[in-house]
Amino acid sequence: MENATRAYFDKRGEVLVKNLRRRHFDAYYCADRAAALSKVLELIPEGSTVGWGGATSASQVGVQAALNAGNYQTIDRDPVSDPAERTKLMRACFDADYFITGANALSLDGQMVNIDGVGNRVGLIVYGPKHIIVVAGMNKVCPTLEDAVKRARTVAAPINQQRFGLPNPCTGTGVCADCLTETSICNQILITRNCKPAGRIKFVLVGEELGF
Ligand code: SF4
Repeated sequence: MENATRAYFDKRGEVLVKNLRRRHFDAYYCADRAAALSKVLELIPEGSTVGWGGATSASQVGVQAALNAGNYQTIDRDPVSDPAERTKLMRACFDADYFITGANALSLDGQMVNIDGVGNRVGLIVYGPKHIIVVAGMNKVCPTLEDAVKRARTVAAPINQQRFGLPNPCTGTGVCADCLTETSICNQILITRNCKPAGRIKFVLVGEELGF
């Protein structure tokens, strides 16, 4: 990565950590993936039950692989193809000690935007486990909340859709058409603007480009 980009991420990371903490989130800035992996593992006591979903950035950091290889009880639906079994594992995440996820976008003033098709991820963020860990690259940070919603809807969702190939307008064009299809992956839009109880949601920000 260019030194200028690194310095830019570092400076914005410092501002974002301060603004997240003002909203009662726990927040940490890590300069790179290796530091982020250490921080996530430091936050989760061995023996904990841990699930994840919508966590591409955490996967790129190596979190899921480390947890599966370590002394944790993981709830891993990634290798499962049976829909009923996947749903069962999604629901099991509500009883986990920790849930790891990502952010579709963040505003520099410390608010998070996430879009969901089924609703399990946003449900877990809102009223799921006692501990939520969000791993996010600094490429997700937008100047304002309005910009963050725009990013989530017009960048993150159409890219995410390419993984599924469902018959939605953005599959063919890459452009969001604000669809109302039965297969839309944009059914719930969550803005997390403050953390209650304080410290329940923990951000591990990474000074790299991660996810989409
Ligand atoms: S076209 Fe539909 S599925 Fe695609 S990003 Fe827009 S709302 Fe989501």
